[in-house]
Amino acid sequence: MTVKNPRFVISAVRPEQYPVTNMLEIAFAGRSNAGKSSLINALTGRKRLAYSGSTQGMTRQINFYDIDGELMFVDLPGYGYAAVSKDQKSLWGKVIEQYLNVRPQLYMVILLLDVRHDPSSDDKLMFKWMLESGLAYAVALTKCDKLSRMKCAERVREISKTLGIDGKGRVFPVSATERTGIEDLWAAIDSALEE
Ligand code: GDP
Repeated sequence: MTVKNPRFVISAVRPEQYPVTNMLEIAFAGRSNAGKSSLINALTGRKRLAYSGSTQGMTRQINFYDIDGELMFVDLPGYGYAAVSKDQKSLWGKVIEQYLNVRPQLYMVILLLDVRHDPSSDDKLMFKWMLESGLAYAVALTKCDKLSRMKCAERVREISKTLGIDGKGRVFPVSATERTGIEDLWAAIDSALEE
């Protein structure tokens, strides 16, 4: 899909603040710093549609982006930020969990993992939830420009194995800076929406 007019809609915490629409939603989940904002910008061909909070990892709101009036991108708060208190962590968890549980138009979840790191326990929990939800899903391995092509392909195999994903078309190596893998990820989104 070539995005023509992506638009930030609203930041929300509680369900009553979510936008009232019946567009299908694609949620982006991942640890803070995994590269969510950069990937949303790469997918929409914009430089600063999405941006991280001024203090890294401190955005705890859900950001909604209208993609050409056809679907909504939903940027979930990054989890696993080390420098916050236990209370804040559980609040973030609650914001994410609530969205995932109550949003009927949620259609697909894209989990972002930094290609260089093994999935954390939070990542594994998130992935388990994705599988159990029965929603469409994809895993984007971000920052692939930091590794050689060969090493990146090896990480795709390793991380797929760790998560128990066999079969193709689920795990996508991407780089927001080099814009590689972006078309493939769009193809996965498009094909999920056509099902
Ligand atoms: P978020 O916290 O998940 O929204 O992550 P950001 O998109 O803000 O990215 C976190 C950091 O990783 C920033 O310093 C980005 O510049 C960097 N980053 C994100 N994507 C890429 C990528 O594809 N390649 C490289 N080299 N750096 C990236």
